[in-house]
Amino acid sequence: MYPILRTDPPMSAWIERTAADLAAFGEEHRTELDIANRANRFPRELYAELGRRGYLGPLVPTEWGGLGGGVAEYSVIAEEVGRHGLVSGQIAAQGQRWLLDWGTAEQQERWLRGIATGEIVFSECISEKNAGSSFKAMASTAVRDGEDWILTGSKTHINLGADCDVTLFYAVAEEGLTCFLVDMTLPGIRTHVTRAIGLRLIRTADVVLDEVRVPDAARLGPAGGGLQTFLSTFNISRLGNASELIGLGRRSLELGLRYAGQRQVGDQLVTDFQGIQWTVADAWTALQAASLARDDAALAHARGEDLALRTTTAKRLAITAAERANDAAYSLVGGHGLYHDTPYTDIDNDIKVLKVAGGSAEIMNNYIARCVLRDEGHEGLA
Ligand SMILES: Cc1cc2nc3c(=O)[nH]c(=O)nc-3n(C[C@H](O)[C@H](O)[C@H](O)COP(=O)(O)OP(=O)(O)OC[C@H]3O[C@@H](n4cnc5c(N)ncnc54)[C@H](O)[C@@H]3O)c2cc1C
Repeated sequence: MYPILRTDPPMSAWIERTAADLAAFGEEHRTELDIANRANRFPRELYAELGRRGYLGPLVPTEWGGLGGGVAEYSVIAEEVGRHGLVSGQIAAQGQRWLLDWGTAEQQERWLRGIATGEIVFSECISEKNAGSSFKAMASTAVRDGEDWILTGSKTHINLGADCDVTLFYAVAEEGLTCFLVDMTLPGIRTHVTRAIGLRLIRTADVVLDEVRVPDAARLGPAGGGLQTFLSTFNISRLGNASELIGLGRRSLELGLRYAGQRQVGDQLVTDFQGIQWTVADAWTALQAASLARDDAALAHARGEDLALRTTTAKRLAITAAERANDAAYSLVGGHGLYHDTPYTDIDNDIKVLKVAGGSAEIMNNYIARCVLRDEGHEGLA
């Protein structure tokens, strides 16, 4: 895969090394990863090891302990993480983007190095019971009290919410949507682990802030600037989602093919059946299209071009590709795939989560349609 990124010799050599290293990591730790996934547990030590190897800080300059790369490197890592069922660094990458774009020198000093190396676990507290796809009903509040702020609110679906050291908490202040870096050891914070069906290595939690006092220095970006700060991670989030989905699809297809290539049914192998071959061709084609769209977005970023439509298209294509690849795998493996000790249902569940989290398929479609209708001069009809 990586159809375009591979054409660049220095990048392709780095891709080879990264893919091989992450594959070896997955093989070495497969049992621990599978046990943690089924137990809905965050394997912090394995996460830290990924950080030590540089995979959690793709966007952070090397002097801060990161890889010093860009979105292309980030995409490659995210795809391999999906492909080998590793602990996702997507939330850490978004934290880096937020801190690099909006953090003060003091905030960067305090958090950035640790997030990039995996010593500090970051989470993002945006969604609430009544505010998911839209911020309009967000009920969390930020109220000034002298030089401080008092934060109150209940967040839900928060990946790493009960495992993090710092969270980015979005709340409504008098000036409008505002976000704060909240140290999770502060008094007034409660967390409760929840059991999502997928991405359980970065398990979810409900996070409640009950009149938590933070200094103004904890505010990230301007008061009332929450929408701008949110938008600065929009592309990273969608590219990370797209890349992990492509990786999950590849994993499923590769495992299915490995099994079916040796599975005799009557006097033929499963991979000899034309009906099966066409299913494989459809899945491969969808994965290739998603990879091309994702690579196109990564390269457009390097050229300084606008990415939003490209990253949204990549995520939309990657959802379909991952679903198609996992469906193909079910066809390839038959009954063998329908047990919990085979990986296909876990992959299926991860795909379902990534189809919603970070912006659902419907929200991707809305954005794509808005752009297309605007270009065609039909904006008023959208
Ligand atoms: C496992 C998991 C992990 C998550 N991790 C985090 C996290 O770490 N931090 C965080 O803040 N949030 C997180 N989320 C929340 C996630 O971002 C939201 O679930 C998502 O934005 C959708 O919001 P909702 O679930 O409230 O659905 P709703 O907004 O209630 O939407 C319900 C349905 O309606 C559709 N819909 C909504 N608006 C439109 C529209 N305008 N047009 C067409 N269809 C529409 C949606 O696509 C969806 O299918 C996570 C969610 C899950 C499931």
